[in-house]
Amino acid sequence: MKLTRRSFLKASAATGALAALSGGVMSFERWSAKAAESSDVKMIPSICEMCGTKCGIIVKVKNGRVVKIEGNKDHPNGKGKICARGNAGMKLLYDPDRLKQPLKREGDKFVPISWEQAFREIGEKLKEIKAKYGPEALVWSTHPELVNDYEVIFNQAFGSPNLSPHAPTCYSPRNAAYKAIYGDVPTVDYGNVKYYISCGRNLVEGISVSQVTGIMKAKEKGAKIIVLDPRYSNFAALASEWVPIRPGTDLAFLLAMIYLIIKNEWYDKEFVANYTVGFDEVAAEVEKYTPKWAEEITGIPAATIERITEEFAKAKPAAVIDPGWHTSRYMNSTEMVRAGAVINALMGNLGQKGGLKFSKYNFTKVEEREGLWPKLEKPKAKRFDGAGGEKWPLAKGLGMIQMLPEHILSGEPYPIKAYIANHHNPVRSAGNSKKWIEALKKLDLVVVIDVQMSETALMAHYVLPESTYLERFDPPQIAGNAVALRQPAVKPLHNTMGADDIIKELAHEVGIGQYFNYTLEQFSDQMLKPFNVTFKQLMEKGVIALDDGKPVNKVPEIKTESKKIELSSPAFEKAGTKRVPTWVPPGVTERNGKLRFLHGHTAVHTHTSTFNNEYLHALMPENVLWINTRTAEKLGINNGDLVEVKSDYGKVTIKAKVTEAIHPDAVFMVHGFGGFSPYQKKAYHKGASTSFIVPNHAEPLSGASADCEVLVEVRKIGGGANA
Ligand code: SF4
Repeated sequence: MKLTRRSFLKASAATGALAALSGGVMSFERWSAKAAESSDVKMIPSICEMCGTKCGIIVKVKNGRVVKIEGNKDHPNGKGKICARGNAGMKLLYDPDRLKQPLKREGDKFVPISWEQAFREIGEKLKEIKAKYGPEALVWSTHPELVNDYEVIFNQAFGSPNLSPHAPTCYSPRNAAYKAIYGDVPTVDYGNVKYYISCGRNLVEGISVSQVTGIMKAKEKGAKIIVLDPRYSNFAALASEWVPIRPGTDLAFLLAMIYLIIKNEWYDKEFVANYTVGFDEVAAEVEKYTPKWAEEITGIPAATIERITEEFAKAKPAAVIDPGWHTSRYMNSTEMVRAGAVINALMGNLGQKGGLKFSKYNFTKVEEREGLWPKLEKPKAKRFDGAGGEKWPLAKGLGMIQMLPEHILSGEPYPIKAYIANHHNPVRSAGNSKKWIEALKKLDLVVVIDVQMSETALMAHYVLPESTYLERFDPPQIAGNAVALRQPAVKPLHNTMGADDIIKELAHEVGIGQYFNYTLEQFSDQMLKPFNVTFKQLMEKGVIALDDGKPVNKVPEIKTESKKIELSSPAFEKAGTKRVPTWVPPGVTERNGKLRFLHGHTAVHTHTSTFNNEYLHALMPENVLWINTRTAEKLGINNGDLVEVKSDYGKVTIKAKVTEAIHPDAVFMVHGFGGFSPYQKKAYHKGASTSFIVPNHAEPLSGASADCEVLVEVRKIGGGANA
C-alpha cells in the first residue's frame, strides 16, 4: 500500500502536528504498513533535513523508492520521534517542481546547461571579479550550515572573509549573550526542568522534537511553565500560565526578577561565590528595577512578577529562563538574553539536572585540523558588515547578512560583486524583499545552490541543483552524546549534486583545488578521529553513542577569559554598553495609532522551504493575520475579511483572523508564506510574505535583524466569508 496524500491528510487532520510527534507511528504505520514492513525493505539510518534540528531518521526504501520515514530510536535528537515535517520528507524528494538540472539565466528566462559549463563559467567570473576587486568582493551565505567546513575552507582559500550564516535573522542575540557571559551556548535540560520561563519562545511550533517531548515530560511530572508572549500561542495554551506581555519588554520583566532575587537573597550564594564575577555590580544596577517599575513598561502587574519570581527561585537549580532560538526580534534582544543568563547563574543551574546543559563534544575547527589541505591563511580584508570588528565585537562568527543589500547599494566599505547563497533564501527569509531584489540586480554574479527554485534563485545568474537530504551524504554531525551521519537512501533522481561536491568543483575552477584533494570519507575520518569512530562505521550504524548519555550534575568548565560566569561582562562593555544588565527600550516605543507587527513559526512548516511540499501544504496552505477583537472592531474588520497590511517597507494583503489571543497593540502572521517563485506551483502566491513588511535592522550589540521592530497600518479592503 502506498502512502497517499489523502491518507496523510486524514490522519494529520485527526492528530494535528503535536500528535505527529508521538513516534511518527500512528498515521504512517497504517498507511504504508504493507510496503514498509515487507522483508525486502531496506532501512537506512540518516538525519532529517526538513528543518535545522537534525533528528535521527530511519528511511525505509522498497524497490528503490522511499516508502516511509520513521524516527531513529538510537539517535539523541528525537529518540525515535519525528514531527509532521519529518514524516513528509519524501514529498520533497518526489516534488515534481524541484530543481532537476543546472540553470543559467538568459534574459528573463532560465535555460538548462551542463554542470561542466556551469562550473567553468562561474569559475571564470569569480576569477575575474577577484582580480579586479579583490577576493572580498565575494559574499557567501549559508543556511542551515550543512557543509560549513567546506565553505570555511573555500572562502578562506579564496581570500574572502564574508562567509555568513543566517544567524542574525534567528539566533544571534542568544549566541552573542551566552558566549559573552558563559563562554558557550547551552540548551535546557527540558525533561527535568521544574520551573521554566519562556521569553517569547513558541516551543511547540518552532520545533525540536527532543525539546518538545522533554518539556511535555517535565509538565507531566508537575513542572510549572510560564510563557511570556504578546500572543496566546500553542505553547502558551499548553503552559501553566500565559503572561501577555507588551512586545519588546521581556527585558524589564527579567530585570525586576533580578531585583527581587537579590533583594530577597533568593540566589544560590555558594554558586555565585564560586563560579561568578560581578555580583555586586549587578546588585547596584538593579536597585531601580522594581516590580512597580516593570509593571509600567510590561503591562504585567507587579504582584504577578513578584509571585512568579518567588516560585521560580524556590525551584532552583531546576529553574530556567529560556530565550529560545529566534531571538532576533527587538533592539534590546541581546540585553534580554543577557538578563536571563544572569538569572540562570543566580539560580546556580549551569550543568545541573533540570538546568542548563552544555555540549560535551565538538569537532575541532578546520583551521586546527592538519594533513588534508595546505595551511589556511586568514583573509586580509575585514568583513563587509563589520561583524566581529570594533563596532560589533559580539557579532563575531554570526555575521550580519541581512545588511548585504545596504552594502551592495552603497559600495561601502568596498564593492561587492558576487554572491553565492547555499541553501539560503534571504530574498524571502530576511526582511525588506524589495531592497534585496534591487541590490541583487546590481551584482555581476549571483549563484544559488538549492533543492528548489527559491525567490533568491529567481535573482541568480546560475542555479545549481542540490540533491535532497535523502539522496546525498553530508559530513558527520555531533548530536548530544553521539556522532551521526546523513547518508543517501536512494540515488539522485535528477541531474543534481551534493553541496560538498559542488563546492569542490567550484574550488578547482577558481584555482584553489589543492584545498579539496580528498574524498568525503577521508574528510569525515579526519573529523571523527578524536572519537575513535570511522566514516564506514557511521554508514553502517547511522549514529554512534560516545558515552552512556546519563546526565551528570557538574558545573561545566566556563570558557570566558576570567574562567568565571561574567555577570559583569567586559565583552558587553567592549560592545559599547554597561558591564551589567541594564534597561534598554525596544526600538519602537510610540505607536502613533499603528500596530506592532509580530511573526513566528508554525509546527508544520520551516522557514521558506516546505511550502511546496504536498502534504504540508495541504495541512496549512496559507497564513492569516491575527488581530485583537477590540482592535479589529475599531478598524471595522470582521473575521475572514481581506485586509491590507502596510509598513514603511512594503505591503501585503491577507485574510484577518479576529481573536482575543493577541495583544491589542500587535498583529501576528506565521512567516514563510506568500511565495512568489512561480516554479513552486503549490506555494505560489499562497498567503502573505512577512518579508515585504519587516525591516533589516542591525541591533547595536549582536547585529541581529530586530525584525519585530516595525509598525504597520491595517485596513479592510474586502469582505470575507463572515463579513
Ligand atoms: S524537528 Fe521535524 S523537521 Fe526538524 S529535524 Fe526533527 S523531524 Fe525533521
